Amino acid sequence: MVIVVSGPGGVGKGTIAELLVEKHNDLWLSRSWTSRAPRKGENEDSYVFVSAEMFKEAIDGDSFLEWAEFHGNFYGTPWPVAPDGHDVLLEIDVQGALSVQAHGIDFLMVFIDAPTKEDQAERLRGRGDGEDEVHRRIAEGERERKVASGLGAVFVTNDNLGNAVDEISAIISAYRRK
Ligand code: ADP
Ligand code: 5GP
Repeated sequence: MVIVVSGPGGVGKGTIAELLVEKHNDLWLSRSWTSRAPRKGENEDSYVFVSAEMFKEAIDGDSFLEWAEFHGNFYGTPWPVAPDGHDVLLEIDVQGALSVQAHGIDFLMVFIDAPTKEDQAERLRGRGDGEDEVHRRIAEGERERKVASGLGAVFVTNDNLGNAVDEISAIISAYRRK
């Protein structure tokens, strides 16, 4: 089973994805590749950080289930190799989710939002994003929400972090029972 966690920048997707795999031993979080430089203080395991050249070589070598260009950087999901008995968790943007769908793969789509745009901006600034990036990520959110609706996403507001993780856990359990 594949679960896609998506949402605008800064709403807390990465934080939530990490907490979900800590909580559920049977969830396996795919580590994406990116040509983006690591942020100050960013965990070095957040991505496989590579140069744009290396990323393009990997595209040519058919290394990715999907990849997308986002704000001038490449992001891609290597073909997932989850251990037996594990479901795959992908934290990717909505373009990536569309590509996964185009592969004919069925997935649960969870779209996370911050309570307000102000909260989102505050979270982005809090992790060191500049004002241009903050505005871009907020504007991008409008388009992303529409695509997510089209993909039948379940929308979750990340107000209290623990509650959001619990809510998504319940959504995953319900999807597994289907
Ligand atoms: P994303 O992966 O969606 O871009 P991050 O996981 O990097 O977002 O989170 C952005 C910032 O918001 C981080 O500093 C994180 O600690 C913080 N954050 C995440 N969830 C919450 C929350 N519920 N309340 C307040 N801050 C949060
Ligand atoms: P960030 O630079 O904030 O880490 O990520 C920017 C965007 O790229 C986010 O929407 C994030 O979900 C998305 N992203 C991260 N990894 C992947 C990936 O492997 N594929 C795709 N398509 N998007 C990704």
